[in-house]
Amino acid sequence: MHAIRLPPATTISAPFWSGLRERCLRLQRCGDCGHWVFYPRRHCPRCASSALDWHEVSGQGRLLSYTIARVPPLPEFSGPEPVVLAVVELDEGVHINTNLVDVAAEAIAIGMRVAPVFVPALDHAGGEAMRLCFTRATE
Ligand SMILES: [Zn+2]
Repeated sequence: MHAIRLPPATTISAPFWSGLRERCLRLQRCGDCGHWVFYPRRHCPRCASSALDWHEVSGQGRLLSYTIARVPPLPEFSGPEPVVLAVVELDEGVHINTNLVDVAAEAIAIGMRVAPVFVPALDHAGGEAMRLCFTRATE
């Protein structure tokens, strides 16, 4: 199976990537203003506080936007085209650029509920890792 190689984890992003390996989605939340933060950062983008803590979230959300790519957006991402490039809004309010998987093109609808899927990938050194994709929620 083709596996996408992920970027190196940084000190700031490591809890996100280790969470995915445990099939768990972790987001940062600001301890001062309560704002949820994605992608991982050193400071809150709302109030500039550095009091960001990691919390496990359900990963439930809705499809905000998508497009179907028939050529890879980057050579590193080549594989089973076409691929659905999507923007998901989690219930916590953060937006995640991702792939929608296991949904027929004609079944994709803006606003539909989505749930996380943990897809095997390779880390930058070729080790086992997971990447975060989404699919239609079963509810
Ligand atoms: Zn804040």
